[in-house]
Amino acid sequence: KPRLVLVLGDQLSDDLSALRAADKDRDVVVMAEVMAEAEYVPHHPQKIALVLASMRKFAAHLRKDGWTVAYTQLDDTDNAGSIPGELLRRAEGYEADEILYTTPGEWRLIAALEDVPLRMTEHPDDRFLCSREWFAQWAEGRKELRMEWFYREMRRDTGLLMEGDDPAGGQWNYDADNRKPAKGDAAPPKPLTFDPDEVVTDVLDLVDAKFGNNFGTLRPFGYATTRDQALKALDHFITHALPRFGDYQDAMLTGEGTMWHAVISPYLNIGLLDPLEVCQRAEAAYQAGKAPLNAVEGFIRQIIGWREFVRGIYFLEGPDYPTRNALKHARALPPLYWGVETRMACLSQVVAQTRDTAYAHHIQRLMVTGNFALLAGVDPAEVHEWYLSVYADAFEWVEAPNTVGMSQFADGGVVASKPYVSSGNYIAKMSDYCTGCAYDVKAKMGKDACPFNLLYWQFIDRHRERFEGNQRMRMIYRNWDGRDADDRKQILSEAEDCLARLDAGDPV
Ligand code: FAD
Ligand code: SF4
Repeated sequence: KPRLVLVLGDQLSDDLSALRAADKDRDVVVMAEVMAEAEYVPHHPQKIALVLASMRKFAAHLRKDGWTVAYTQLDDTDNAGSIPGELLRRAEGYEADEILYTTPGEWRLIAALEDVPLRMTEHPDDRFLCSREWFAQWAEGRKELRMEWFYREMRRDTGLLMEGDDPAGGQWNYDADNRKPAKGDAAPPKPLTFDPDEVVTDVLDLVDAKFGNNFGTLRPFGYATTRDQALKALDHFITHALPRFGDYQDAMLTGEGTMWHAVISPYLNIGLLDPLEVCQRAEAAYQAGKAPLNAVEGFIRQIIGWREFVRGIYFLEGPDYPTRNALKHARALPPLYWGVETRMACLSQVVAQTRDTAYAHHIQRLMVTGNFALLAGVDPAEVHEWYLSVYADAFEWVEAPNTVGMSQFADGGVVASKPYVSSGNYIAKMSDYCTGCAYDVKAKMGKDACPFNLLYWQFIDRHRERFEGNQRMRMIYRNWDGRDADDRKQILSEAEDCLARLDAGDPV
């Protein structure tokens, strides 16, 4: 009897544990494009296209490699509509009663698979450097989980950028060198894109027909959809952008969505690239003298540090994690997040870029869209759904800890030791957005005052009880309390007006 080997849309890796456990001559790989996965949130059309086109090409690659693949396309008439449904249908068709699968990356699907009434043989997803068990052990008994300590363990464990027992260059972290703003005349390199071939074109037509109303522009579509292409995109980044990745990691410029970032998260997250190989290629560039240490260390830290750390948190914290709301924020997500016009140039830029490319870099996500939602007190569940929908790299295990935890502080401080909030000052320092804005970033109150300035102090004021005692926020409260009482009153009242306009759907 054949066994069925489930390969999900974010499991497109040759060395997937379920494939390793299977027998090419006996077993049948099951891959299915299903509505349940395509619409649990209104995904950006480019995200759906990326996953479907990559699945189709991976299936072709497996067949060429000698596997039997039972592949269901989204519009096949007998499509059962969900992963469990497709497994049952294929099990009947092939008279199979055992399913081999690699643990999915989200609680929702883990639960759905556990309920399938067949023999379900689970294999851990070992495409990560840190297993769930290892992370749980590391976390055990610690009062606080801090990425930096975890990261050092990962450096030692992988040997990346190590000189014996010591970190290359003598320091673990070169972030202090990595906070430079970019000048308006800087010319960031463009990431490598790929013209749609026949498979991609078919998928684009399908996505257009079925998901044309979702937020997001479908064309031009330039993402890589095979491992070969993804490796080319990675090499392009290493040659052209990595050398300045560190310097400008936090910088933002009007019309420049990708800056010196890699744009490889979609490929890592669906399995086209392996995290260790990505880091080793970056390390080789450092060793060959082609990229400085601050850039390479910063880049590697994002992958073996942050990426592995947030995955550990997601699984450690359990299925309720995405629904947490420590600050009890309840405002509806303002329509400007879905492209309704706003006078705030920073938000307008980042949302338009998100709509057109399904991409924004970390600081845009954290300090523009995330910062504003947190200051405005938006319900973190709505913020979570937005991020999960609009980015090509959005899968819950990585998106939720970043959004619910790091960005919205809705986990009460598991991921972040203090909330990532700032006034317009930070955006003015790290970008050129404010020069084209209807608001005045220097104005702290009055009709031209930047909304970030007003809402920042209102946030600080309304959450005094929770944050006043936080060592890292004491100075902020001291500043606020030291201000003229009338000014404070006016700022708070103007902030309330701004929130009322947001609630009424009036332009902000
Ligand atoms: P680079 O800046 O070039 O970094 C290289 C790689 O490091 C990335 O490809 C990514 O794999 C990894 N990385 C960097 N930062 C993080 C991080 N904080 N957490 C995990 N991995 C990281 N990342 C996702 O992959 N999927 C998401 O859904 C996602 N949602 C986010 C939501 C919010 C609110 C925030 C603040 C961040 C989110 N991130 C998410 C993290 C980060 O913004 C993206 O990984 C990064 O922007 C991807 O672009 P890049 O490949 O150009 O990254
Ligand atoms: Fe954004 Fe304020 Fe700057 Fe306008 S002035 S771009 S709203 S930070």
